[in-house]
Amino acid sequence: MRKLNIVVTGGAGFIGSHIVDAYLALGHRVWVLDDLSSGSRENLNGEAELIEGDIRDGNILDRLGSTRLDVLNHHAAQADVRRSVSDPAFDADVNIVGSLRLIQRVMEAGAHRVIFSSSGGAIYGEPVTFPQTENHPLLPVSPYGCAKLAVEHYLDYYRLVHGLRSVSLRYANVYGPRQNSRGEAGVVAIFSERVLKGDPLIVNGSGEQTRDFVHVSDVVRANVAALELDLDGSFNVGTGIETTLNEVVEVFRNASGREIRVEHAEARKGEQLRSVLDGTALRELARLPEPLPFTSGLSETFRWFEERVS
Ligand code: NAD
Repeated sequence: MRKLNIVVTGGAGFIGSHIVDAYLALGHRVWVLDDLSSGSRENLNGEAELIEGDIRDGNILDRLGSTRLDVLNHHAAQADVRRSVSDPAFDADVNIVGSLRLIQRVMEAGAHRVIFSSSGGAIYGEPVTFPQTENHPLLPVSPYGCAKLAVEHYLDYYRLVHGLRSVSLRYANVYGPRQNSRGEAGVVAIFSERVLKGDPLIVNGSGEQTRDFVHVSDVVRANVAALELDLDGSFNVGTGIETTLNEVVEVFRNASGREIRVEHAEARKGEQLRSVLDGTALRELARLPEPLPFTSGLSETFRWFEERVS
């Protein structure tokens, strides 16, 4: 494949930084656009060029000079669902308006393709069929989900009217090394740190709520396929396997070999009860391997957190 000029927004964050590593390893030239609000320099690959700034700043990509861009891989976001509920306008400002400024600007810089990090759990809302395929009704129950869906629609518009090719990757619950434990979504990162500190794991409600945990290496594979196969449209990136929070605790017991205490807290109002994505469409199209089983992915991730703490 020809060497491409790629901007990865959010490339100092959890998922984006792994994608940057993979794209650089394939020989592409990568710029990371990130305001470091939840990402960190520690995650940054030294071979990438950092443009430190906000995606909402319409002039931020002027720093590319006359470089002709090929691809925008867009991972920067206000990614906190609870913050989107408490401040929907801020969420929309970053996740919708920021995305549109960026898309307009990269088209001017010559980009012909966009890869966008959407969210299956957030845009399907409370599921009505299991596992959720790409045809599941789109009924987001958070401003964050509304924003992700809006950007998918805008990308459809840009494809139809401006010929800009794009792929929206609808992730399940992504976990793996470098995940930030400060957010609310990263239960594996949060539990890893608590186990290592000897703190009890807090389980909201009965613990029977389910999620689909997909390892970041599978998400990276999807992003490489999206780059190399000139795909268009929206695709789930998930395992099709539903795991309860109580099962997550058990997997932690086995993976860590430590004594684990659990404290139950009140169920969170409005929390989605179930979510599981059917990721076969993209896997078959791109001939991707079966996803990494949660037990092995979690063991590897826990070791990574362990090494950082010791
Ligand atoms: P993250 O917080 O680690 O990464 C987000 C990155 O974006 C950070 O480096 C942050 O500093 C940067 N950023 C935030 N606002 C910015 C702004 N206004 N301008 C420039 N940079 C900004 O989160 P993540 O888990 O790696 O998520 C990456 C993307 O994947 C997000 O778009 C998120 O919505 C999406 N996603 C994540 C999951 C998941 O389970 N982690 C699931 C579905 C979708």
